[in-house]
This record gives sequence, structure tokens and C-alpha cells, in this order.
Amino acid sequence: MNKHLRKYCGPLLALLLTFPLPVAPQSPPVNEIILGASRITVQITPGHLALPRSAVMQWIRRCAEAVSRYYGHFPTNRATIRVMPTSGSGFGFATTDSEGDRGVIVIPLGENTTQRQLDNDWVLTHEMVHLAFPLVYPRDRWLVEGMATYIEPLARMKAGYIGRERIWQDLVKGLPQGLPAAGDRGLNNTQDWGRIYWGGALYCLMADLEIRRMTANKKGLQDALQEIDSTDSDITSDVEVIDAIRIGDGAICSDCHFLEKLYEKMKDNPVKPDLDKLWKDLGVKSTNGKVTFDESAPLAATRRAIERMPAANAD
Ligand SMILES: [Zn+2]
Repeated sequence: MNKHLRKYCGPLLALLLTFPLPVAPQSPPVNEIILGASRITVQITPGHLALPRSAVMQWIRRCAEAVSRYYGHFPTNRATIRVMPTSGSGFGFATTDSEGDRGVIVIPLGENTTQRQLDNDWVLTHEMVHLAFPLVYPRDRWLVEGMATYIEPLARMKAGYIGRERIWQDLVKGLPQGLPAAGDRGLNNTQDWGRIYWGGALYCLMADLEIRRMTANKKGLQDALQEIDSTDSDITSDVEVIDAIRIGDGAICSDCHFLEKLYEKMKDNPVKPDLDKLWKDLGVKSTNGKVTFDESAPLAATRRAIERMPAANAD
């Protein structure tokens, strides 16, 4: 039983015993996307969309392909993407959860959304990244939000949807929001939006850099996360966070604990790296929101390694 059901099955059961099951007014039309061994069911709930259904299907396929490239395959064998037409344009607050052996993403989509907005969307890719890690307790939310924040642009870049400048530009702009303020007691003890999303992304970047330093750029965070997902420790599993982290560490080497040590450190302590020095070392120069690269910087090779795909997953 997953953590959400542990939390909600009591009240839900009481409700079912009290009231008859509601009858769905209309079954949503169903379409399916097959990617490798994964079947992704697409449901568009009743409502108006200016874009044709084919454009919505193509958008979902593009996002699924980007995430599949990062992980080597789509994160879950079964998934449902439930698109809910709403007023306006663009994307509403999306959620990801599991129902049995199925990952379920619910994403509101404005009826006047344009093709351009679909092409530039990051929300659905972010949600699909959530499928690749177990459900976590609220205190560990920073870990999964950080992973999605860090991986989403990398996955889209590796699929050719955005340039590498965008990745570093976003990190330079976003990561300062993830730094601890005075009195901070670590990522497990914060409710701050910036700390949760960008503090979690900072964990991922620091873990990636450490793994690459220790393996001379032969391995990176991607190898660890692929291993976690490949052992079926995805959102449909009941694997505990620390066990998933250890699976990831095991993909790097048998007796190293990069992810675990950094997790233990950052969850209860305010970790505040010198980001200006980090950008300088990586050869990332930001001027008026635009980034350029210094290929002679000490960690320029590490930056390029983060941008590359592992050979096994390259097209
Ligand atoms: Zn998220």
C-alpha cells in the first residue's frame, strides 16, 4: 500500500460505506501511446480545446520521449495522463500520483492553449519525472521536487527541445532561491517553496558533481537515477526513500554512498555552497540573464559531461 493510501484509505473507505458509488456522467475518450514496454493511456475529460486532439497527443508523446531518453525507458509500465480542459490558456496545477500499478498524472489545460505553448511546455515533463521515483513522505518532498526541477530541462535538452544555455541560465537564476536563510534547519524542516524546489535541485547538482568528480566523469546522477527506476523503485512501488537512494549509490560503486551522505547532510543542516565560485569553476558566465561558457574553466569538462547523454542511451 503506498504512502498516499496509508494516509487516505480510512476516510475514503468510510465514505464508500456511507454513500453509493457515483456513476460517471460520461466516460472520457481514451487514447494510448506505446513507448517501448510502456503503455500510456491518455484521457481528455469533457470540455473544449481549441487545439486538435492530435496536437495534445503529440505533446504528450514528445514529453514522454524526453523522459524516456533520460531514464533509458519510460518510468512506469502503465501510466494515465488525464488532461482536463479548463478556461484560459496554458497549464494549471498538475499532480502525479499512483493508482495500483499505474502512475497517474492529472494536468489542467486551458482551452485556448496554443501550439507554441505546448511546444515550450515544461510542466508535463516535470510531472513525468515524478513517475521515476517512489512516493515520499511530505518531509522528503524536496528530494522529488528537486529531481524533477533538475532533470526536466536536461531531459528536454537531450531530446533537442531546448539549448544547453537554457539549463545553466535556469540554474544560475533559480538555485539562489534554494539556499538556506538564517535559522534554517535543513531541507526536511522547511516549507519554503524556493528551498523545496531549488534546494532539492541544488542537492541534485551537488550529487551530480560529486559523482562525476569521484568517477572522473565516467558516471553521473543520471546513472544512479536510471538504476533506481530500473529496479522498479518508481512511483508505483512502496520502496522507502533511503532504500531508493542506496540503490542509486549502488549504481556508482559498491561501497560509495554519495547520494546517502549528501541526503543525510542536507536534510537536517543548512548547506550553503558558494554558487559564484561554482559557476566560475564550471565555466558558466551569466550576464544580463544570458549565459556564455568558458571552456578553459577547471570543471568545464564536468559541465559538458552533464550535458551529454550516456552512450548506451544515445540515438
Ligand atoms: Zn513536482
